[in-house]
Amino acid sequence: MIAERYRGAPRLNINPETGETLCIACNLCALACPENLIVVGWQRDDLTRRKVLTAFTYDTSRCMFCGLCEDACPTDCLELTQDFEMATYSREGAIWDRHRLEEGPTPARYVR
Ligand code: SF4
Ligand code: SF4
Repeated sequence: MIAERYRGAPRLNINPETGETLCIACNLCALACPENLIVVGWQRDDLTRRKVLTAFTYDTSRCMFCGLCEDACPTDCLELTQDFEMATYSREGAIWDRHRLEEGPTPARYVR
């Protein structure tokens, strides 16, 4: 059993109906992080003048799972889930990109 308030693998939530990200690229999570391990990429939409998320990286190897980033997120887009299986074979694998944050980990399935 995982404790109710356990903070584990990060997730970038999407709107389940539209499939679009809930992230508004405000960068508050990156500013709140004491480890400076979140990088938010964005560009300005010429028509709406709104920021549009273009990339998101989260270095889990440096994260202490303090939760300050998810507390700072105004849209509840960034969430530390109760998933705890984050082992990788390389340091590069610890850096999660936007796709992995949205889709979740996709472990390799080995067959004989
Ligand atoms: S949980 Fe803490 S250390 Fe990890 S990314 Fe969020 S603010 Fe940074
Ligand atoms: S605080 Fe939330 S909405 Fe803002 S950039 Fe981070 S994940 Fe996106």
